[in-house]
Parts: sequence; C-alpha cells; structure tokens
Amino acid sequence: MHADLDPATDGGELLVGGVPLSRLAQRVGSTPFFAYDRELLTQRVARLRAAMPDDLEISYAVKANPMPALVQHLSRVVDSLDVASGAEMRLALDTPLPPGMVSFAGPGKSVAELSQAVAAGVVVEVESPLEVDRITAIGEETGIRPVVALRLNPDFEVKGSGMRMGGGAQQFGVDVEEAPRLLKEMEARGLDLRGFHVFAGSQNLHADILAEAQRRTVDLVLRMADEMTAEPTYVNLGGGLGIPYYEKDRALDLGAVGDNLEELMRSLVRPRLPGARVLLELGRYIVGEAGVYVTRVVDRKESRGTTFLVVDGGMHHQLAASGNFGQVIRRNYPIAVGTRMDQGDVETVQVVGCLCTPLDLLGDKVRLPRGEVGDLVVLFQAGAYGHTASPTAFLSHPAPLEVLV
Ligand SMILES: *Cc1c(COP(=O)(O)O)cnc(C)c1O
Repeated sequence: MHADLDPATDGGELLVGGVPLSRLAQRVGSTPFFAYDRELLTQRVARLRAAMPDDLEISYAVKANPMPALVQHLSRVVDSLDVASGAEMRLALDTPLPPGMVSFAGPGKSVAELSQAVAAGVVVEVESPLEVDRITAIGEETGIRPVVALRLNPDFEVKGSGMRMGGGAQQFGVDVEEAPRLLKEMEARGLDLRGFHVFAGSQNLHADILAEAQRRTVDLVLRMADEMTAEPTYVNLGGGLGIPYYEKDRALDLGAVGDNLEELMRSLVRPRLPGARVLLELGRYIVGEAGVYVTRVVDRKESRGTTFLVVDGGMHHQLAASGNFGQVIRRNYPIAVGTRMDQGDVETVQVVGCLCTPLDLLGDKVRLPRGEVGDLVVLFQAGAYGHTASPTAFLSHPAPLEVLV
C-alpha cells in the first residue's frame, strides 16, 4: 500500500464515509461500484482554501467526475465550475451556482453547445478564430452579448506533467503569437471579453515546477492584459495539481504551491488587476483521493505457480488502474482486500478483471492478505477519471454503480 495513504478502517473492514465496506456493498446492492466520500471532498476543498491566497477562487473541473450528486455537493463548497461539454454544462447549471460562475473550455465545441452557453451566460473559453466567428454569429442572431475569455496556448511547456496540454503545437487554445490580433477582433465585434484561460497540463506532483509554470502563466496573462482595451476581470490560471498513484510518488507539497501563488498575487497580479477574479481549476486534486472502486472476488485460481484473483470489475470501469489511460509504463494503483484490512500480506497475486483480454490487469504481483471468493477488493485513488474515463461498453458488461456516502 502507498506510504502516503492511510485509509480509515474498523476491524477488518475499510470504512467509506464511515460505513464498513461489506455493509456499503449490501446497501448499494451489487458490485462493482464506485464510492465517493462526501466528507473527504469537503475536507479537501477546505485544505486547498487554507493553503491558497484568500482571493484565489477554487473551480472544480467537472470532467474529472461528473456524477450529478457529487457535482451538486461540490458546488456548495467550491466557487465555480469548469465544464468541457454541453452535458457537463447542464449539470453545472443544475447547481445553485450562477451561470457566470461556470466556464466552458475545450476544442471542437459544437455550434449547438456554443449557442446553449451563450444563452446561459456562462464564460466561453474560446479556443480558435473560427469559434470566435461562430460565437459572434450566435450573438448577432439572438441579440445576446456572448461572455467570453480567450484560452491561450502558452509559449512555454510545463515539464513533469502526466499530460501536457500547453506549449508547442496544440489543439487547445490560441497560440500566444496570434492572441493580440484575435483579442482586438473580439473587442471590435462587441463580445463581452472578460480575460484569459491558460491550462498547461495535468497530474503534476512537483511544487517547484508548478510554481514556475504559474509564474510564467501570470507573466503571460499580464502581457496579454496590455493588449486589451478593457481591464480583464477573469484570469483562469489552470491547475494540474497531481495526486500520488504509484509507490514512488510523493504527495504534492500544497503549502509550497500556495505560498508561491500568494507571492504572485501580492507582487504581480493585484497591483495590475486589483478586482479580477483569479481562479485555479482543479479536477483530480479535489476528487481523486475521495473515491474507491469496489469489486468482488469471483474466482481464485492457480496457473503454473501463479495465483490469480479474478474480480467482477475491471478496466472497462477503471481503465487508468489497468495502465491503459495515458500511462507509458504500467504500474499498480494502490489496492487492498477491503474486507481483510487487519490481516498481513501473505501472498503475491495477479488481480485481474473479468474481461477476456490480458490488458485487464488491476494488480501485477501485488502483496495482499489471502483473498477468497466473496471478498471485496478495493482500488484507491479512483475518484477522478474512473467511471467517466473508462470504456464501459467494452465486452458489454453492465455499467458500474456510483454512490456518494
Ligand atoms: C482536464 C482539465 C482540467 C482538470 O485537470 P485535472 O488534472 O483533473 O485537475 C482543468 N482544466 C481544463 C481546461 C481541463 O481540460
């Protein structure tokens, strides 16, 4: 088990939201399922707020986990929501947050999605000149003034991210070199241009690299602010804060990230943009550690000296744990027999899912207590990019259930 992971237990049972795992499985009615801990979500946002400058907004990036109950819960503790599709936007608009506190990013937004966004009054983070044309046309046809920000593809790269989404050639945002011209065009067309969005990458565990990226992001945004006639009122600094998945990963030093942002706000942002909303948009960091994926052992078999625990879930629900979601090298996600938390590790096993493919490997040579048919095997760090980022139709098994406890 991961050194930085210390899950709550009661006797042999893992506790999720204070409920013993087998009792939770009974309550849910069937395995496999994802369970998200409401209290852990609330605590996580509180910790973020304690570490970050007071005048920095926390936005939740819905794509990390769009379960409606979870989005509703988070909407009461974060300041704003970031969405990446029309369906996510509908979820966000169902929450008590005002539409102006919803931002809509992503390449290839359809005209229908843009039209819905303009009608709702959400901040559309535009990603191309053609998107500017489409939004202008929607505004002219409907008489509604579109609210927009410009997503910038920065002229720097952030190293050490699990996924890089800025710098070099990108489908995301508009190259900084093109931005001044497009900004003037957006203003000339009467769009309600609020400011900027920069999102350089995801899953970064290095506070020093994040600090450097945030400094360069602030530099860039202030340079671009000079290209606008009006004062920017919206500065979305992105995020990319990572969580530890693998044994060698160390948790991010959140304090160091917060101190750096405090300094940037005080010395650079506030002197130039005293009233602007400045926000960090986070998905994984808010929800990732608050979720577990729960499966049941359906078979235990030996093959030429290797023990296989076959569970009723798999990569069709939790693709990332199988190593097939953007990872270069397959490593194990933290895993446990959630019904034997008080027992020592006594054997080395292969934990495999129920799909008919060798890709469906959830634990490779993992040390565990002896798991029997009926035991519940749990994968941790499953709150983000789990259900939502997995090929649930693959092999036509039923979709997993989800519960917020
Ligand atoms: C995916 C995404 C996020 C969330 O990234 P995390 O790594 O989950 O925090 C935030 N903003 C944008 C624009 C994204 O595409």
